[in-house]
Amino acid sequence: MTHLSKDQIEQLRQLLEQRRNDLRGEIMEVLARTEEFPYGELAGIPDLGDASVADLLIDLDNAMVHRDVQEIREIEATLERMDQGVYATCIECGLPIDFERLQAFPEAKRCWPCQGTYEKTHIHDTTPTL
Ligand SMILES: [Zn+2]
Repeated sequence: MTHLSKDQIEQLRQLLEQRRNDLRGEIMEVLARTEEFPYGELAGIPDLGDASVADLLIDLDNAMVHRDVQEIREIEATLERMDQGVYATCIECGLPIDFERLQAFPEAKRCWPCQGTYEKTHIHDTTPTL
């Protein structure tokens, strides 16, 4: 189980949900300017969990949308870990992740030392392919 109190978890969940809403808003803004997007005329936010919607968003070839979609997936995976009670534990070393770190970055999957090691060994796997 996690070392965080119920209140702390609740606080982080709200941060994540708020962030997800912001990202969806950003995506909708981009979509509103995109003529070829068939959902463009629909009011409301497309279900990003829907694979066909996700594919369309990827096809948009918009770097910001790509990043947002990826982050939304991260957030959803994080919320799932929360539900499973495995949240806030470093996936590398299994130690608890500091609440302060989680407040700044609720999607954190690694503690500080492990994150440092990870970033050194995985420098930018988002290299453009062009
Ligand atoms: Zn660690």
